[in-house]
Amino acid sequence: MTGHRPTPATDAAERAASSRPAEYDVVIVGGGMVGAALACALGDGALRVALIEPDWVAPLAPGAAVEARVSALTCASQRIFENLGAWAAMHTLHGADGRAETRVCAYTGMEVWDASGPGRIRFDAAAVGEPALGWIVENRVVQAALLARLGAFDNVDTLAGARVERCELHADAVALALADGRELRARLLVGADGAASRVRQWARLDTAGWGYDQRAVVCAVRTAQPHGHTAWQRFLPGGPLAFLPLFDGRCSIVWSTTPAAAEHLLGLDAAQFADELGSAFGRRLGAIEEVGARAAFPLRLQHTPHYVGARVALIGDAAHVVHPLAGQGANLGLLDAAALAEVLLAAAAAGHDPGAFAVLRRYERWRKGDNLLMLAAMDGLKRLFGSPLAPLRLVRNVGLGLVDACTPAKTALARRAMGLAGDLPRLARTA
Ligand SMILES: Cc1cc2nc3c(=O)[nH]c(=O)nc-3n(C[C@H](O)[C@H](O)[C@H](O)COP(=O)(O)OP(=O)(O)OC[C@H]3O[C@@H](n4cnc5c(N)ncnc54)[C@H](O)[C@@H]3O)c2cc1C
Repeated sequence: MTGHRPTPATDAAERAASSRPAEYDVVIVGGGMVGAALACALGDGALRVALIEPDWVAPLAPGAAVEARVSALTCASQRIFENLGAWAAMHTLHGADGRAETRVCAYTGMEVWDASGPGRIRFDAAAVGEPALGWIVENRVVQAALLARLGAFDNVDTLAGARVERCELHADAVALALADGRELRARLLVGADGAASRVRQWARLDTAGWGYDQRAVVCAVRTAQPHGHTAWQRFLPGGPLAFLPLFDGRCSIVWSTTPAAAEHLLGLDAAQFADELGSAFGRRLGAIEEVGARAAFPLRLQHTPHYVGARVALIGDAAHVVHPLAGQGANLGLLDAAALAEVLLAAAAAGHDPGAFAVLRRYERWRKGDNLLMLAAMDGLKRLFGSPLAPLRLVRNVGLGLVDACTPAKTALARRAMGLAGDLPRLARTA
């Protein structure tokens, strides 16, 4: 096995065709945050694993440009990364010249308020008894740290730059053909290939859900006043607008709005955009002084009623896509990865086939309920805060005030959002 270094597609193509399929216990398609976390969680274990990712992210150096896409990570996700031995590398980037740069921003406060009324709620880490409510990290930094960590595991082959083209599901194994001609066989195929998962299609696992007729505009901005290590969110009639604190003093914004408004915002010049953004945010942090590159993503709710099929399991966005208003999508996916790894390692220790349906059902039963609960909660919040109806405006403003005043309810809500409640996999518990 190659183990220590990603196998470049070009080298592999030369060895293709004539060789017999490489045999694995588990092939993971997709090395995003979730697939890469699963590969790390299976590292140093008894199972032979391959991770296939077309867009491999190389380790980043201090000073690397800040990516527009960031994630608010929960305490549970932070523990998973800590236990996988990847947290230190995403927390601080080290350069060959000895430079170091902290790339993670802890947020100790969270403030949420409604633009159409007086409702407001504030969470503080100290009140929950934790050092932070969560951490803001660029997606690319997380992915690069996890992929680099895989180099330490002899039982994991990393197929960088490869893409699966064909898949055949048999009763005893899965046969895969890569675009470069290589062939693989596995006892279990894991789809960690995102919302438009090909694995899900090959396994004929249907999805349910709907588009929100919204797009999220994201970019990094500098505000006149410091972010105060607080995650800010203002609910506007068109959708929520979040300001998330970044390690360099800037904020990463996520502005969910109608597709037409998103198009308009992307078309503005920097000064016009800064002005519209400042006004939409009620100038809570003063004027917007600097605006980075903007991008927009369509938003939808999507759930796959069956996460597992014959020799297939889905994790992360391949199984469920949630509105980003509470920053839970990647966090749910990381819990999927931790739970699936725990189930597979237990099966391997007991001498069971990791692709056996009974083993995979254990994973599905464990994660589906929690994921559905979060999907429903996010969908409900999105609808409640998006409604222009006067009775609903009243409900949400009174509701925010009531929860803010009720310490036990607020603490319970915060602990659930921080990933500290529920049936957590071992990797998400304290190290
Ligand atoms: C605007 C926005 C803000 C968000 N903010 C947050 C947040 O604050 N907190 C949070 O927890 N979540 C957040 N999310 C959700 C989060 O980004 C996703 O849940 C998360 O990225 C899903 O990770 P994943 O690894 O499952 O899928 P992806 O990130 O989609 O990764 C899938 C991987 O599969 C690879 N792939 C695709 N096809 C193939 C193939 N055929 N062969 C091999 N590989 C393939 C891709 O290259 C990719 O690397 C946000 C989402 C949006 C849109």
